Amino acid sequence: MTFLRVAVGGVLLFIADEVICAFGRLGTMFGCDKYNIKPDLVSVAKALSSAYMPIGAVTVSPEISEVIYSQSNKLGTFSHGFTYTGHPVSCVVAIETLKLYKERNIVEKVKSISPRFQDGLTSFSDSPTVGEIRGNGLIHGTECTDKKSPNDPFPPEWGIGAYFGAQCEKQGLLIRVAGNNIMMSPPLTITPPEVDELIKKYGKALKATEERVKELKYQQKKQ
Ligand SMILES: *Cc1c(COP(=O)(O)O)cnc(C)c1O
Repeated sequence: MTFLRVAVGGVLLFIADEVICAFGRLGTMFGCDKYNIKPDLVSVAKALSSAYMPIGAVTVSPEISEVIYSQSNKLGTFSHGFTYTGHPVSCVVAIETLKLYKERNIVEKVKSISPRFQDGLTSFSDSPTVGEIRGNGLIHGTECTDKKSPNDPFPPEWGIGAYFGAQCEKQGLLIRVAGNNIMMSPPLTITPPEVDELIKKYGKALKATEERVKELKYQQKKQ
């Protein structure tokens, strides 16, 4: 979740980017609910349709919508939009998705499974290849650094993040790699045995990555 403050005519507006965190990812309907934050604007997408159809939205506070409506009344039409704004196919999928989240109690399920996911992964924090492991709900990040310090990144040409990702992929676990960081946002419907399987595979990939680092360090010393 990222936040932005924008000053408009002397008023500070608070924008919460909930594209990832909205609709249960943190075990609450919105990330802002978890932290009791009251933003003026909220951007949402992704889980709004469970990604089955492309749709995004910006929700605004009554103070903001009143300003837009007052101007629109002067022009005779709601004067904001894009070619595919409110596309009915995407909207119907989004409405159905939100209905299913409620019917199947998805948010509560995320809340109850999150500790298993977080605790399982954080148990690898002592690895010499890991700088920091952090996450919340069903979102997780691993920062690979040397000497457990953010000031000692592995040389980019070692491709440690990519190696980690490839080791996961070999076992059928698809993760997101960005530089030497590993990110995971598993399905909101993940079950306890699936969490255990994920953690086991992550652990194996981490072990292989530790070995790879040792090997690269040995080669570096020899040169
Ligand atoms: C995916 C993502 C975006 C990008 O959203 P677009 O609809 O592609 O512009 C923005 N913020 C966060 C947090 C995201 O995860």
